[in-house]
Amino acid sequence: MTFDAISEPIAKRVTAGLAKIALALKSRAWKGAGGAGVTPTQGQALGLLREAPKGLRLSALAELLGVSAPTASDAVNSLVSKGLAAKEAGPDKRSIALKLTPAGKTLADRTDEWPDFLTRAVESLEPDEQAGFLRSLVKIVRALQENGDIPLQRMCITCRHFRPNVHDDVLNPHHCAYVDAAFGDRHLRLNCAEQEEAPAEQRSAAWERFRVPAAAPL
Ligand code: SF4
Repeated sequence: MTFDAISEPIAKRVTAGLAKIALALKSRAWKGAGGAGVTPTQGQALGLLREAPKGLRLSALAELLGVSAPTASDAVNSLVSKGLAAKEAGPDKRSIALKLTPAGKTLADRTDEWPDFLTRAVESLEPDEQAGFLRSLVKIVRALQENGDIPLQRMCITCRHFRPNVHDDVLNPHHCAYVDAAFGDRHLRLNCAEQEEAPAEQRSAAWERFRVPAAAPL
């Protein structure tokens, strides 16, 4: 077939599309960060600290940001000097927990709006297309994590509470043992506060049960 011969592999074209989205996000992040007086890394740190009301250690923040400890330390020190974050004694007294100040929380809420333009674009997809896209994204993010290309993500597919494809219900085939409820691909989470990373053997077994495409539209 003519187009089989003249087309680049699908994976390459998907990657090109993702690169265009990444470029748009980067450009918006710079604009949003500049207006807010913080760098994109500092903006990301604000977002992560907002999701951790009990605070984060510097090492944990560096891991979530995917940057070195010195880079994370620079970002935190800058946020502290701007009155957006504070260093407090951690639970074991010798550790330091990083937390947002009220001003930092307000700014974190604002910086969270940066990707809204992308959300609006995703909303142009039909509901079943959004669910399918989410499932594909989960698989891509998992592969990046397994290959060590991104830090650990708090997602269902690697969670010890995730029981994929255990229900005879095409709309809600999965089960979350944490809330003891069935759910579907459209509910998959990429950042769940209750996520606990499963041991390697459980992650591998869950992946084998999950990766087979759903039998019916979601
Ligand atoms: S606890 Fe959260 S991440 Fe884990 S399976 Fe339930 S919803 Fe998914």
